Amino acid sequence: MGTTSRNRAAVRMSTAIGLVMLLSACSGNGGATGGGDASGYPDQNITFVVPFSAGGPTDTVTRMIAEPMAAKLGGKIVVQNVEGAGGTVGAGEVAQAEPDGYTVLMHHIGMSTAPALYQKLGYKPLEDFEMVGLVTEVPMTVVARKDFAPTTLQELVTHVKANANKVTLANAGIGAASHLCGLLFQTATGVKLQEVPYQGTGPALTDLVGGQVDFMCDQTTNTSGQIAAGEVKAYAVTTPERVKSLPDLPTTAEAGLPQLTVSVWHGLYVPAGTPPEVIQKLSEALKVALADQKVIDQMAKLGTAPVPAEAATPQAHRTKLEEQLGTWAKVIADAGVKVS
Ligand code: ASP
Repeated sequence: MGTTSRNRAAVRMSTAIGLVMLLSACSGNGGATGGGDASGYPDQNITFVVPFSAGGPTDTVTRMIAEPMAAKLGGKIVVQNVEGAGGTVGAGEVAQAEPDGYTVLMHHIGMSTAPALYQKLGYKPLEDFEMVGLVTEVPMTVVARKDFAPTTLQELVTHVKANANKVTLANAGIGAASHLCGLLFQTATGVKLQEVPYQGTGPALTDLVGGQVDFMCDQTTNTSGQIAAGEVKAYAVTTPERVKSLPDLPTTAEAGLPQLTVSVWHGLYVPAGTPPEVIQKLSEALKVALADQKVIDQMAKLGTAPVPAEAATPQAHRTKLEEQLGTWAKVIADAGVKVS
């Protein structure tokens, strides 16, 4: 992780899509944060890297919290989408960024699945990052194009068993939450489907609505609107309990597929070596954002909620990541999936 690769990462990221959330002009002391002195932080824009497409679920959650976090920090947060390879491209770039608190990664459960999926992953989640805190845990839904024949999850299972070579399953690339959920579906049903990867489930959902692919799993933060509008057919929610905003949707367990239980936890990361005082400031700002009534209401509409304050901490986040790395390594090894 030398200066050259950091510079390369910075150049690549500067070409990505950006949205500036300006809340207040930052004053600062004009000097870069370093040596543990966080008193002037932030004195320049903070970049939040989303490793998936704009308009998708990770992007949505990031933009929700960026504004109140920027207000608390007294600076600007710029959201950049650095897509590719199921979230591993964006994560890899942040791992190589300057550890100064100005490059922050929003990532989800994929942080814990990628090491088991990729033989050559350019980063080590526990060593190359510091954790800032958990953000939210989002249910997934199993959704299909609206004219897809099956009307229930059981009918979907029967249909894919009979038409395995014809049915297409969209996802956001290997390592994405939608990939993991699709993997659980295929393992549970014993059917190998034709997967169609996208750079995020934002564009995947667009194609599902357009009828170009048959079905997929995706987070309620992306699918709630299309389900409510009748633009997609929804079969089940992948959490043990029903989701308040989608009360008519059975759980996968109720619908006869309890093995398909997963929810998509999200967290904020900075490169390893970031000063602890800076991480502390980010974590405090995250807590403030998660207690913001507007954020709580927006999340509730989309079937999710902020994590409790005690989970928005570096330690709680690290503990969760350690536990999840173990859990998914086993599931993925059992499923026999590997990418070179
Ligand atoms: N979270 C991804 C996105 O924002 C989708 C996924 O992980 O399935 O597009």
